[in-house]
Amino acid sequence: MTVIHWFRRDLRVHDNPALAAALRQSAGQVIPLFILDDSLLRSPASAPARVAFLLDSLHALDQALQRQGSRLLVQRGASIPTLRAVAQVTGATAIFWNRDYTPFARARDAQAMHMLQELGIAAFDFPDTMILGPDAVRTKKGQVYTVFTPFRRTWRTLVDADQAALLAEPQIPAFAPTPLPEAIIPEPLPSLEILGLTTSQRIPAGGEQAGQDRLRAFTKPESGTIGAYASGRDLMAEAGTSRLSPYLRLGCVAPQACLRAALAVPPTPGTQAGIETWVGELAWRDFYYQILANFPHVLRGAFKRQYDAIRWENDQQLFAAWCAGQTGYPIVDAAMRQLASEAWMHNRARMVVASFLTKDLLIDWRWGERYFMQMLVDGDPASNNGGWQWAAGTGTDAQPYFRIFNPTSQGQKFDPHGAYVRHYVPELAHVADRYIHAPWTMPAAEQRRVGLTIGKQYPAPIVDHAIQRERALARYRAART
Ligand code: FAD
Repeated sequence: MTVIHWFRRDLRVHDNPALAAALRQSAGQVIPLFILDDSLLRSPASAPARVAFLLDSLHALDQALQRQGSRLLVQRGASIPTLRAVAQVTGATAIFWNRDYTPFARARDAQAMHMLQELGIAAFDFPDTMILGPDAVRTKKGQVYTVFTPFRRTWRTLVDADQAALLAEPQIPAFAPTPLPEAIIPEPLPSLEILGLTTSQRIPAGGEQAGQDRLRAFTKPESGTIGAYASGRDLMAEAGTSRLSPYLRLGCVAPQACLRAALAVPPTPGTQAGIETWVGELAWRDFYYQILANFPHVLRGAFKRQYDAIRWENDQQLFAAWCAGQTGYPIVDAAMRQLASEAWMHNRARMVVASFLTKDLLIDWRWGERYFMQMLVDGDPASNNGGWQWAAGTGTDAQPYFRIFNPTSQGQKFDPHGAYVRHYVPELAHVADRYIHAPWTMPAAEQRRVGLTIGKQYPAPIVDHAIQRERALARYRAART
């Protein structure tokens, strides 16, 4: 009896509930399948960086499967007809997959269920992607939480109550030899170039092993990283966060594995806060997934619908300056250049640049959301949308719209010596600490001393923060009335 495990965003062999069940049910006769769907590769939210990371992760997955006596079958085409063809040609009796909760994935999976039912092929889907599913955490009245702090409290209570079951790692039974029928021609994994894409961004190594190594390094008590997370996570120049987001995005590492590793770190007075804060980030991830699953309109407009009425200015030139890291605000420019070169950006920096785009430049948050999706190696519809709506003040933030970050003081606070700015904005390398976050305030003599003329080698601020702040407040106020 042959069955298929349909890999999607669960690119790992271990800790994989659907794969484990498929192997159990078929005594190892599993065909591991991945479908490279052109509609996803070509979507406006697609990013060459993420495709490069995907290809690397698929290559690593194939190697891991080969070590188990199997191999990954890659097919290119639209998901549903390709799945149907492979299922029919192989004579598979069942298809297994792990659930994904974006509206796109849900619609696709409903179609797959329907198609398989018509063919008389069984379909089994398993909870994955989140630690607790989109319907698991509810208020006492059974409602969806729309504010993070009470969500996290209930989330944590449920995690603690069910830790043993939740954190048990499914054992992966052995694969048995499963020859493919001749009618199926395994396609070699295409390169990025063959897919017609290029990127000059630096992409981390993909795959399960690379993700596991990162998780181990971050949670190793000797490294001290998770222990210091509560204070280190906001300092932009420090390597104070896990950088696991691309691996979580494609499921190279299961979120359960992250939770398990964090809770296994011996808590001490010095590490407890760090561990708890990091576990709280995993809860944020679940939070935004349950928001997207229960309020799918957020992918089109404001979570709080009254903010759809905000009159944005949407100035193309200002948007181009923001994308290029040429706004004249060093912390914003450093962050945007980090994104352009590394396909990743520090979380604090994401909040700062998102606030700047929406509140200082009065540009629709959806422009920023899309640009991030096109650039980020970890671009994730739920977390990205949640982060953008939070920063724009249109989302689930308990604080109202008048939270407006001041880019200068954010820089001074979270990059106190300017190391982050100097790294990504080399024009400012010789600017003294006291001017690094406001270089336009350098007297002419100081500019001469450091060999930098504001407005020449580095732009003067493209807008005045104090003025724009008042204008943003007025726009938001108007939208509420
Ligand atoms: P760590 O600090 O080590 O956190 C561990 C994990 O927790 C992360 O890998 C991530 O999966 C999760 N996490 C942490 N913070 C958040 C958060 N605020 N919301 C949801 N999950 C979180 N995260 C993405 O994974 N993809 C995105 O596309 C994305 N876009 C964002 C856009 C904006 C405007 C903002 C403000 C935040 C966005 N985030 C996004 C959340 C956060 O910035 C990243 O998850 C984090 O920077 C990834 O780095 P890390 O893996 O080192 O995180």
